[in-house]
Amino acid sequence: MKVVIIGAGLGGLALAQRLLDNGIDVQVYERDSAIEARFQGYRIGFGTEGLDALYGAVRPRLHPLLEAVSGRVERTGRAVDPQLNVLGEQERDNDEGRMYDRNVLRHLLIAGLGEHLRFDLKLDRYEELADGRVRAHFADGTAVDADVLVGADGAGSTVRRQLLPHIGIHDLPVYGAIGRTPIAGFEHLIPGWSTVVSAKDVQLMLGRMVFQRPPVEAAAELAPDVTLPDTPSYIRWVLLLPGAPKTLDLQPVLDLIEDWHPDLNALIAQADTANSGVSPIKEGDPIEPWPTRAVTLLGDAGHPAPPGGLGANLAMIDAELLADKLIAIRDGQQQKLAALADYERTMCENAAAGRAAAAQAFQNFAKLRAEA
Ligand SMILES: Cc1cc2nc3c(=O)[nH]c(=O)nc-3n(C[C@H](O)[C@H](O)[C@H](O)COP(=O)(O)OP(=O)(O)OC[C@H]3O[C@@H](n4cnc5c(N)ncnc54)[C@H](O)[C@@H]3O)c2cc1C
Repeated sequence: MKVVIIGAGLGGLALAQRLLDNGIDVQVYERDSAIEARFQGYRIGFGTEGLDALYGAVRPRLHPLLEAVSGRVERTGRAVDPQLNVLGEQERDNDEGRMYDRNVLRHLLIAGLGEHLRFDLKLDRYEELADGRVRAHFADGTAVDADVLVGADGAGSTVRRQLLPHIGIHDLPVYGAIGRTPIAGFEHLIPGWSTVVSAKDVQLMLGRMVFQRPPVEAAAELAPDVTLPDTPSYIRWVLLLPGAPKTLDLQPVLDLIEDWHPDLNALIAQADTANSGVSPIKEGDPIEPWPTRAVTLLGDAGHPAPPGGLGANLAMIDAELLADKLIAIRDGQQQKLAALADYERTMCENAAAGRAAAAQAFQNFAKLRAEA
């Protein structure tokens, strides 16, 4: 059985690792020219279930490295006003989850994929063949056949737009400036795992991504064959604003906080510009099971969600569920379409939980705004 995965995000890579580990013929196609090609480096929080699924996708010999490059969820989260006066604090269990840098994690998840991952190949469309297989057509004119095609190509998924054209993507009535700044000199802004600065029209969320060990140093000692990026510990910041962005230029957004505490302005001014920018915040329509075919979806492609939800956690869980079903198909334990239908049903149920978590996060910000 041959599986073709479109997209080398966290979800596609996790699925590829699981399939390869189980001897399934798998190939991942990514449109970017290289793993470092675009803005990639934000912090992602994993809860217990997502973390278990992540560990299941990474070879056991790399588990010590996975732990070393994680950030702990430590001490309190706090809310402050723009002059840094504390408004409230929230305790969290230190061991309930881990933080990861998306870029570091992607590097870890490509380890060992070798020829099974190809860059610079953008899926254009797919074609369902008379024998129940699928042909993926790429923008460069090449094509490849598969028994199962998995769209793991993110929120704007080309696969989903062909498979489920009725699922729309909409801008939420908020937008964000997202970036990161090396933490050195700013530790006092974020004594726990997160700080929210709350004002009338603007919320600034600060998230701490402090690697337990610097990724390059940890890889050199624990798994010298794995190349990790030289990323310093940082503060991930998100400025959340009502309405839609008039420009994707960062400066007008930064002008809104110029009377805030100088340390907050310095934090934003010293941002790593390659990993900072302004963007609308989008959400997809709810997803329901569809008539199953040899083409399926995973991660944000299946359930496009805004940041603040459980997107990466769900992508890891999707990868685990789908891998189990693909193994069952390969081993003759279940028919292809019946197995994929089971997966899609569970994926849609989990997606509903993810939507609820994202909606709750945005309601919390609306409440903070109303109270400010
Ligand atoms: C700022 C921010 C913070 C977040 N925080 C969290 C968090 O704390 N917890 C959490 O669970 N989630 C979080 N998320 C969401 C999480 O990052 C995503 O849900 C997750 O990364 C989705 O992974 P994916 O593999 O489904 O898709 P993606 O990571 O989007 O990967 C899709 C891949 O497909 C490729 N691709 C697209 N189209 C094509 C094509 N036509 N042909 C070939 N390749 C293609 C893309 O280049 C990309 O590499 C956050 C997101 C953001 C932006």
